[in-house]
Amino acid sequence: MGKSSSLSEYWQLLELAEDYLQDGSRRAHPSLILPQEQAASPASPAAPAVPEPPQPAAQDQAPSSPGLADIAAKVTSCTRCALHRGRKHAVPGEGAAHPLVLVVGEGPGAEEDATGRPFVGPAGQLLDRMLKAIDLDRISNCFIANVVKCRPPGNRDPQPEESAACLPYLRAQIAVLRPRAILAVGRVAAQTLTGLSAGVGELRRRQLAYEGIPLAVTYHPSAVLRDSSLKRPVWEDLKRLKSTLGHA
Ligand code: SF4
Repeated sequence: MGKSSSLSEYWQLLELAEDYLQDGSRRAHPSLILPQEQAASPASPAAPAVPEPPQPAAQDQAPSSPGLADIAAKVTSCTRCALHRGRKHAVPGEGAAHPLVLVVGEGPGAEEDATGRPFVGPAGQLLDRMLKAIDLDRISNCFIANVVKCRPPGNRDPQPEESAACLPYLRAQIAVLRPRAILAVGRVAAQTLTGLSAGVGELRRRQLAYEGIPLAVTYHPSAVLRDSSLKRPVWEDLKRLKSTLGHA
């Protein structure tokens, strides 16, 4: 499969997730052509296809790390803020024990609360496809977490005091995971990790770091599902993250 084909497949997958969120079924789309695809001539050399995520060895899985397991146990029984009262399940996070990238969102939604797993449902499926486009996945080389580990009611933003109460867990996870880069998806995660009040549109253009770890900012998959015009900047951000990993 060539580069142009891989990109087309990626955007088709984004559209598919969008359709399921909006209609619960697949809709017909006009073909979406990216600028780099238009520029590619038939004689352009073919890029290797995006490989299927490798199946990790059991010892590479996050649950085998005592540090992560200890943090997860503390999260599960935590009552440090009012969010614990409404939760079905706390959502500590999941992924590789030694990740290239730590993905940070704002907090669990209804499906995450029901399952105890981060980024499930249409937004989670879109996140998986975004990561796959740059050879990442939540099993072998990413860890997925949130700023707050319990669902804010009605999917509202976490209150500052809730984020502050929960942040030590994320900081502890970062200390154990030591990712090569962090990807903050959405405004709440970006502002929490940077301490800045700017929006995603500004923060995604800046060179940032969190305690010496390169920090990339992009739009939340839920926002992309609501607004397809965000697909292009997300793809630009993913390419920059890929480049950062190549130089880390
Ligand atoms: Fe504890 Fe975080 Fe849940 Fe609040 S959101 S109860 S601080 S785990």
